[in-house]
Amino acid sequence: MELDSLYQEVILDHYKNPAHKKLSANPTVSVHHVNPSCGDEITLNLILDGSKVKDVSWDGVGCSISQASTSIMTDLMIGKEVPEALSVVDEFTELMQSKGTLNGNEETLDDAVALAGVSKFPARVKCALLGWMAFKDASLQATGKNEG
Ligand code: ZN
Repeated sequence: MELDSLYQEVILDHYKNPAHKKLSANPTVSVHHVNPSCGDEITLNLILDGSKVKDVSWDGVGCSISQASTSIMTDLMIGKEVPEALSVVDEFTELMQSKGTLNGNEETLDDAVALAGVSKFPARVKCALLGWMAFKDASLQATGKNEG
């Protein structure tokens, strides 16, 4: 697969130096997600402070796309209110399902726009979405917990 070289650099940098790749203790919710088609696996720990994302940490193995995408996601989510974080997940999901027709809004997606090219490769879309889906799952579970 061929991606813009600048974007490749962003992805490689996150792959080599992943952000928040060390599970924090005492998470509000912990989830484990796998992408069997590629062999990617991640565990994600989410800590909420009220409705605010206080901490997202993770550990995992897999391809550079899955690992880099999860790293980018954690940087984006920490400090956001849950509804805002979930809308960013939706925006990224839409970008990944765009089959190369969208470039992504850098204001909201930041480094994640580097993954836009992945949407042209259906087999890799699940790799890119793995961490984001784990975050969404954890957030929904955590907010359900708070309400319950
Ligand atoms: Zn993968």
